[in-house]
Parts: sequence; C-alpha cells; structure tokens
Amino acid sequence: MKRLLKSLPKVDKVLLHPEIKRLLERFPRWMVVESVREVIAEKRERILKGEADERLLEIERVVAQCIERIEEKSLPSLRKVLNATGVVLHTNLGRAPLSQEAIEHVVSVAKGYSTLEYNLEEGKRGLRYTHVSELLCRLTGAEDAMVVNNNAAAVLLVLNTLAKGREVVISRGELVEIGGSFRIPEVMSWAGAILHEVGTTNRTHLKDYRNAIGPETGLLLKVHPSNYRVMGFVEEVSLKELVGLGRETGIPIYQDLGSGSLVDMRHKGVPYEPTVQESVRAGADLVSFSGDKLLGAGQAGVIVGRRELIEKIRRNPLNRALRIGKLTLAALEATLRLYLEGEGVWEKLPALKMISTPVEELMARASQVVEGIRELAKKGFVIGIEKQHSAVGGGALPLVEMPTVSVTLSHESVMASEIEARLRASHPPVISRVQEDKVCLDMRTISEAEIDTLVGSVLRGLHQ
Ligand SMILES: *Cc1c(COP(=O)(O)O)cnc(C)c1O
Repeated sequence: MKRLLKSLPKVDKVLLHPEIKRLLERFPRWMVVESVREVIAEKRERILKGEADERLLEIERVVAQCIERIEEKSLPSLRKVLNATGVVLHTNLGRAPLSQEAIEHVVSVAKGYSTLEYNLEEGKRGLRYTHVSELLCRLTGAEDAMVVNNNAAAVLLVLNTLAKGREVVISRGELVEIGGSFRIPEVMSWAGAILHEVGTTNRTHLKDYRNAIGPETGLLLKVHPSNYRVMGFVEEVSLKELVGLGRETGIPIYQDLGSGSLVDMRHKGVPYEPTVQESVRAGADLVSFSGDKLLGAGQAGVIVGRRELIEKIRRNPLNRALRIGKLTLAALEATLRLYLEGEGVWEKLPALKMISTPVEELMARASQVVEGIRELAKKGFVIGIEKQHSAVGGGALPLVEMPTVSVTLSHESVMASEIEARLRASHPPVISRVQEDKVCLDMRTISEAEIDTLVGSVLRGLHQ
C-alpha cells in the first residue's frame, strides 16, 4: 500500500502532461486543477481501501480520467436529455417542448429590446398582458385574461385577491395535492383565505355548498383532480350547478382547471379532458390553468374570466412578485397564435403531436431504432419491440394510459437497472423506463428528428 501511495502521480506532474497542458488553453485553470486533484484523491482512497493496483496509477490512465472529468465539468448542468419515458408532459423533464414558432419568437425577443411593457401607438408605458390577453379571450370566449409565473401562482393570487380573510368553499373531494408540495389547503392559508370544506371525499351535493354559504363567504372554488380519481359511489356538483348557486347568492365561482386544454382531444382518439372554453361557457367567473401542460407553451399560469375580477387581480401588489418573464410570455404568445390556425396546431405543437401520434407511426420509429442499434446484439443485448401503454403525465388525463410502442433492451448478465443507468450517463442522456426487467425506450416522446441522436446515444452508452 505504501509503495502504491508513493507511486501516485503528483498534481504538478499531471498538470505538466502535454494533453493536460493543451486543455489549459480551452478550459479555465481552476477547472483543470480541481479535476486533477479530484481524480488523484479518488485514487488515493481506492489504494487505502485496498482496491488499487499499479495499472490504475499509470499516468496515461490518470490523464484520460482527468480529461473526462474536465469535460463533464464544462457541460451545463441544465442540459438537453432524450425523453424515452413516453410521458409527454413529464414535470421533471421540463413538461411541454416548444414549437418551432415559439422558439423563434423567444429568440427574437431575447436578442434585443421588445414591446414588453411599451405601447407603440402611444409611445407610453403598456401592460405586459396585452400581448396575450386578446388572444386568450378570442380562444376561450372569456371577457379578459392575464398571466403569471405558473398556475400555482395563479391560484395563490386569485385566492388572495378575492378571499383574503374570507371563506372559500370547496368540496372535500377536491382538496388535492399536485406534487412539488402544491396542496390546496396550504395554498389557501398562504393566501390568507379560510378553508371551508364541504361534503365528503366521495360525495358532495349542491345543498352542501348552499348550507356553507354565509356572510363570510368570498369564493366558491372548484379544483380539477388532476392526478387521481375517486371511483364507485361518487357524486360531484357540476360547474354549471355551482354557477347557478353563485348567481343566486352573488358569490364568484373560480375553477382551477390544472392542465386546461384549448382543444377537444376526443376526435384524435385521446380520452376526454375538459377544455377552458367549456368552463367559460358554463359561466365560471374565473378559470386558471398551466401554460406548460396540455397547452404546450412554457411555464406560465393563465387566468381568464370576468373583466372586473381580472382587473382586481392585476392590481394586487402580490402580482408583482408572481409576474411572468418576457421569454415565457413570448413562447406563450407564439403558441396561442398556433391555436388560431385550427387543425394546424396538432402538427405544429410538439405536445399535441406526440399525444396524437398513431401507433403505426410509433411502430415505424421503433423499427428504425432497432435497425440502428442492431450491433448491440453481438454484445449479448436482446433487442425487441413491444406494444405497451404509457401515461401522458402533467396532471393531464389522469390514470389514462395511451397505447404506445417501445424498443426493449435486456441482457443475460447485465441488470435492467444497470442498462438504464448507462443510458442515463450517455451523451445526451437517455431517460428510459424499466418494466419487467427490461429497459423500455418509448417511442411516443421521441420525435422523428431525434431518432438518429437516440441511436447514437444508446450505442455510446452501452458500448464498453
Ligand atoms: C398542475 C396543477 C397546478 C399547478 O400548476 P403549475 O403550472 O405546475 O404551477 C395547480 N392545480 C392543478 C389542478 C394542477 O393540475
């Protein structure tokens, strides 16, 4: 052990190696030195554990590892991955990818100055919401609209504006937790509103709401149970009935729609998901939804509804802390414009396109991938194609699994979890699903244009 520790290369010596010296021209000195130190420290540790031999300490080997380390450090932390999970709106992987139109608009706004809060006609200060509010009204039928940082912010802002210090009536069946610690009762208390729950987990009646209404009531809230369903002996009060009660008592109705689709998905063979238009038509005074779920834009929270309520929300000082950035606003405007084109939106918006891709097309993609990675069979990998089911995600279409096609990978002597980890460590990383001891590469979330990249990355990840 002593002998090994003695032959451990010194940091200074490694730094003088010609290949490392060349790296110093490309990367900052601190990054190179830190990497060399780390690699040597790890070797020392392995010697002390009795895991190292001379071969491990060869200078060429140490240098190669340092180079790898430096390259890893120079990569951005937030980086592109290939989503082979089949989950179209994967919150951890950034939800909806943007359309080409949205990307171009973001780039043009990002490059220089813009009319973000500037009224060109009058040469005066304008409102950032004007770029999308007219589009949102046209698309949803609402009187007015505004946008904030995300839908969680929208819920907080609406509750704070309309129900601070007052009661909000909500069914016990709708006290949801969305994930990422967004829970209705907690948001309610942060907003300064008082939760008044009615009914039971499985059944709530109109009379439950009616009995709860009093001088303290500020709002009737309806929340879309995005990620779960109560089944069996159930009853809920429809938005329409609730609106009737609201009109009778003069209390506004607010619906948190969660995903909030702007198109009817059923004619594309996708199960029913309520649309924003339906909620507006049913008479909701306010409706809020996410920008990056089924809508297919960037992270944003959209609020549509009655003009005087929107005006009040806009003027809430809290709004300043929750406001939307210009880049996401640009993505949102370009995305909304695609919806004005009608059917064209299904082609141009990646999220909608992925959701509606027919199984035959997924099958064709799978064949292409299998063709590309065929050589892995020589290394003992078993490659197959399977028809499966996978979730859409993003709190949309809960429990609904769409038919899909996956390329499957397994190996007699390599565990599926190990294959999954190697794919994740490849460049770009491939995020896959493990199912029945096989790694599944779901074709629903791999676009035509990404197939070659996927093939390259899988080969790199599994070659060794
Ligand atoms: C997703 C969701 C939210 C939170 O929306 P974000 O845009 O992620 O902040 C709130 N309510 C419901 C019902 C949701 O599904």
